[in-house]
Amino acid sequence: HAKRNPEHKYVFYDNGMRERSGFTLGLESDLRRAGNGDEFELYFQPKLDLATDRVIGAEALIRWQHPTRGMVSPAEFIPLAEETGLIWDIGAWTFMEACRRLAGWIEQGIPIPSVSVNLSPRQFQDARLVGFVRSVVDASGIPPDRLELELTEGAMIGDIEKAVTILNGLKDVGVRLSIDDFGTGYSSLAYLKRFPIDTLKIDRSFVRDIVKSSTDPAIVGTIVNLAESLGFDTIAEGVETVEQAEMLRQQRCTRIQGYLISRPLPVEAFEAFMRARVVTA
Ligand code: C2E
Ligand code: MG
Ligand code: MG
Ligand code: MG
Repeated sequence: HAKRNPEHKYVFYDNGMRERSGFTLGLESDLRRAGNGDEFELYFQPKLDLATDRVIGAEALIRWQHPTRGMVSPAEFIPLAEETGLIWDIGAWTFMEACRRLAGWIEQGIPIPSVSVNLSPRQFQDARLVGFVRSVVDASGIPPDRLELELTEGAMIGDIEKAVTILNGLKDVGVRLSIDDFGTGYSSLAYLKRFPIDTLKIDRSFVRDIVKSSTDPAIVGTIVNLAESLGFDTIAEGVETVEQAEMLRQQRCTRIQGYLISRPLPVEAFEAFMRARVVTA
């Protein structure tokens, strides 16, 4: 786990001019270099449907093994990559690597229905996105509906018409689309009904307190009802305990992801996880 030193998070503001701290500046040039080498790696976290006890997919989560700082969290370097524009290359690598892994699993007969990849706002709004996704999917030979893109509401606010056009372009390729961290952003119901998406990922904040909170079960239930009305699936992220899973099930959210099932795993450990499930199933 990346060390949390709050000093590293500060960005200094001065007369409207912004300077990055020495830490962040160093990190930026390192990030530039990391893309050329092999300091990045994808971990995979399974998604489970409690109703069938089956793994329905896995989310690809990037890891940066920095030569001297150790593991740097994506929560730290993805925002920096967004600011500096390095996100396009990192995201391209991530998507191609996820496709390569899934193609390998299909070939090996590992029953992994789908793999999802996160897209940050700048990736989503890049004019190259739809063409890029189409060419990688075509070249991979993977059925496009076995790939999923996770977007946050923040990627889609602003120019809604443009967002709808991009989403339609992606649906045209045939990939699945989900809204990540749902419930924390600003998407109105009027927009939501226009988005050709497949899944709402219920944000971890609603899951975290669902056992103790007097309101969060109702919020989750409302999201599930809303999703059903609009024809979307739901999945809850950040499920850590059996009690949380049970509360989610009571609200008719049976798809879950979180430490209760598994932490994000490096490829070999993920494959071992999948093989163990097949044997005992
Ligand atoms: P996210 O897409 O919402 O991913 C969920 C985060 O929660 C992951 O953190 C995951 O490791 C963590 N998590 C999963 N289960 C649990 C749980 O039960 N409890 C707790 N406390 N945490 C859990 P991670 O891997 O550090 O990623 C953080 C964020 O960075 C992601 O949030 C996503 O927004 C972004 N990210 C990660 N990989 C990529 C990538 O390849 N591209 C882009 N653009 N963003 C990425
Ligand atoms: Mg995600
Ligand atoms: Mg999420
Ligand atoms: Mg999240």
